[in-house]
Amino acid sequence: MKLSSFKLATAAALLGASLLAHAAPLPAPGDTLPVAPHVKVGKLPNGLTYYIQRNGRPEKRLELRLVVKAGSILEDEDQLGLAHFTEHMAFNGSTHFKRHELVSYLQSIGVKFGRDLNAYTSFDQTVYMLPIPTDSKEAVEKGFLVLEDWASGITFNDEDIESERGIVLEELRMGKGASDRMNQVLYPKLFNGSRYAERLPIGKADVLRTFKPEAIRRFYRDWYRPDLMAVMVVGDIDPAEAEKLVKAHFGKLKNPANARPREYAAIPERKTDEGLVITDREAPADVLYIRYPIVPQPEDPTYAGYRRDLVEKLYGAMLSQRIMELTQQADPPFIQGGSGTGKVVRGYRSFSATALLGKGGHVPAINALVQEGERARQFGFTASELDRAKKTMLRNYERMYAERDKTDSAAFVAEYIRNFLEGEPMPGMQNEYAYAQALVPGITLEEVNAAVRAAIPSDDKKLVILMGALKDRAPPTGTELLAAIDQAHRQTVTAREDKAYASSLLDKPPAPGRIVAEQENKALGTTELTLSNGVKVVLKPTDFRNDQVLMSAVRFGGQSLFGDADIFNARYASALAAQMGALNYSPADLQKVLAGKSVSAGATLSDLSDNVSGSAGSADIETLLQLIHVKLTQPRRDEMLFNSFIARQRDMARNALARPEAEFSDTVRTTLYGDHPRVARTPRPEDFDKVQLDRVQQIYRERFASAKGMTFYFVGSVDAAKLKPLLATYLATLPVGDIPVAYRDTGVRPVRGVVKKEVRRGKEPKSNVSITFTGDAAFSQAEQLRMQALVEVLNIKLTEVLREQLGLIYGGGASGGVGKLPYPNYSVALALPCGPENVDRVIAAAFAEIRKLQENGPAAADLAKVKQSWLTSHRRALRENAFWIGQLQAAQLNGFAPESILGFEERAAAVTPADVQAAAQRYFDFDNYVQVVLYPEAG
Ligand SMILES: [Zn+2]
Repeated sequence: MKLSSFKLATAAALLGASLLAHAAPLPAPGDTLPVAPHVKVGKLPNGLTYYIQRNGRPEKRLELRLVVKAGSILEDEDQLGLAHFTEHMAFNGSTHFKRHELVSYLQSIGVKFGRDLNAYTSFDQTVYMLPIPTDSKEAVEKGFLVLEDWASGITFNDEDIESERGIVLEELRMGKGASDRMNQVLYPKLFNGSRYAERLPIGKADVLRTFKPEAIRRFYRDWYRPDLMAVMVVGDIDPAEAEKLVKAHFGKLKNPANARPREYAAIPERKTDEGLVITDREAPADVLYIRYPIVPQPEDPTYAGYRRDLVEKLYGAMLSQRIMELTQQADPPFIQGGSGTGKVVRGYRSFSATALLGKGGHVPAINALVQEGERARQFGFTASELDRAKKTMLRNYERMYAERDKTDSAAFVAEYIRNFLEGEPMPGMQNEYAYAQALVPGITLEEVNAAVRAAIPSDDKKLVILMGALKDRAPPTGTELLAAIDQAHRQTVTAREDKAYASSLLDKPPAPGRIVAEQENKALGTTELTLSNGVKVVLKPTDFRNDQVLMSAVRFGGQSLFGDADIFNARYASALAAQMGALNYSPADLQKVLAGKSVSAGATLSDLSDNVSGSAGSADIETLLQLIHVKLTQPRRDEMLFNSFIARQRDMARNALARPEAEFSDTVRTTLYGDHPRVARTPRPEDFDKVQLDRVQQIYRERFASAKGMTFYFVGSVDAAKLKPLLATYLATLPVGDIPVAYRDTGVRPVRGVVKKEVRRGKEPKSNVSITFTGDAAFSQAEQLRMQALVEVLNIKLTEVLREQLGLIYGGGASGGVGKLPYPNYSVALALPCGPENVDRVIAAAFAEIRKLQENGPAAADLAKVKQSWLTSHRRALRENAFWIGQLQAAQLNGFAPESILGFEERAAAVTPADVQAAAQRYFDFDNYVQVVLYPEAG
């Protein structure tokens, strides 16, 4: 067993070595890193930068981007929020596309579209994203035209600006609530008086309501100019052709005369320690945040800089591991914590530590975080910690290198955006892999320890923030908060002990079983194996990725088999098993044993089924099978970790209902299902009193100690010949004791008739409308598609009318589906966040659109848009391992022939406007729905 994984690893190394022979020589420390050879970076005479790369994944697609180095930080006082408003206007009419034409055109070529869906605005940049098909020259040409319009042709008509105000104000309303209120206090301190605190991208309501059209046109004129722009073209295109198109569309852009200087805001240095306490009773959690000084640190494009980055990542990983382990105590100091060095905004970095607080409050959290920092600063890390962190890092590089020709265009583009905006080097994976292999082994413990010492300042100029509902005890003052930090610093810390771990899970593999039957399915490219214990395995080798194997297994059963007294034991059984580990390893120990392996696996007890899932790199499949084997057959019992989990869950539940939205969604569920105990609602602390360690273990073992009736699927870069003996060893040897493998219908049914409720919670003038239609359905794959078509054409109309025409909503819409289990049923729901004053209008307008669909059916063009986007995503999904494993499993659960996966395009083509109209009549019954509306509380 060890031998075979050794062989695989060696083969990978040899392969890597032979390819590396062709890589460029390693740079000297001071050398600037080269630009990846597969991307062409150029600059037009007007200063516009472009990035062009041919890439075949996904096929016949092109990722276009317009990146503008302009965001909210550049706004004048009369423009607060207009960088983002400009992004909205890019979809509201331009030189070549009238208002609404652009969105409609892109939908027609299968691009789901809308402002914010395909663009974002932040402090220092605005990014427009346009994924298009390359089937026709015309679509490509038009894609460049869209980008050109965004760069220089947005119309900004007065009346279009007027009608967009309502939508942006609704977007601002959606962001209101506890965290927004707390951030208003926090940001000025966090950015230490920098301009950043005054320029949040969403802007100010009064400016958005009243700005003069001239103000937004001025923003566009000043900042949308070629010397601040980049165009990115990555995908299925001839680079020479792409370059021609870039020149033709962007060469003519001109910079304004007397261009305003593009300056970056500075963050002033903090001069003193400061403690800040912010309370808000609607905050769902209490948080502690220690921000050490923010230091200016521009990107270092050299080889030495790359090495420094690796060192930072190594100590970050080790520190995170140590802090995670602090939560694995019976009385954890916090629910969750973290610390490390990270970017604040462009050009600034800082070390910070943060914790989600439990009922112990801020003092134990401060003690733990400060002491862990001190421990790292004074004693550094141990040799074996560094060894594991390096192994993990190298394995990650190996995987990325293996997938370098299977990388999505969008991932390349993301790298180029960082390069353009921040100067992050982009030497390409071939080079990066060579650098990591050359550098990582030589990084010494002394070097890492010195770096962490330099990163964690021991004393002054910290900003310490405590924020949340803070309802358990009188909140401290800022001064008391700082005193607690000082106190923590005065405590003595000791070094961590170095501990060695086994390097593999099992000393000895089980005596193998056999494969007793094998059946090939040519159409699907799958092979079904029957193992000697009756367990089935379906293999689907693919070339979608080079180093990715996904695994999943399923059978009926799940929580449904346990009585009402066991609801909470069953609900948390698999989560607790994951918390306690396997064999004699805690989860933290398991991580260490598996360091350097790319592998994960776990079991989940769902409502109606038992599931096992996992993933691994190609070289780590045997480890994956071992992990599954031990997790199923030898779950670990650990009272301390059990108590720790329960304590953390209780703490998390304590404030969970503070958010008005939590009570709202609970009311929706309890109204729909009449408070049925099986319907999960937001957890309450007392729920966890009902969870018992012995029973939880018993339930887990009852379901997972037997693999009877399980079908395992493996999809990805698997070599069937190599995998088979491993399956015989690890899966054919799983016990198959006799257990029930059918689910039980626990009788959860929605109410009948029209039921309306109101929830009054929250201080902000915000409402939310939830309307759910439910009932029995005739289930089939065709019916699933009709429902999906109905939901999607309705969403097109809701956006067009409620948002674009009436300005009543920013987001929201319909969602729904037809299900088979535990009985054939449907559910379709409207979720429409809006202003409290508009609730009745929103409901009336949504119902009117539904009635139109019932009376006239959808416009043929709308249905065509929906189908086009289905095809686009389906063809793409056919090249994804995750899609296949999900579909194979869904076919099993729903009783479909797996070949029906291949019939999707035919089923999609068969959906007619009349089908959608009939579905609208069937599923929207105005005598049978549940309506819950959230209003702000009185006073
Ligand atoms: Zn927006």
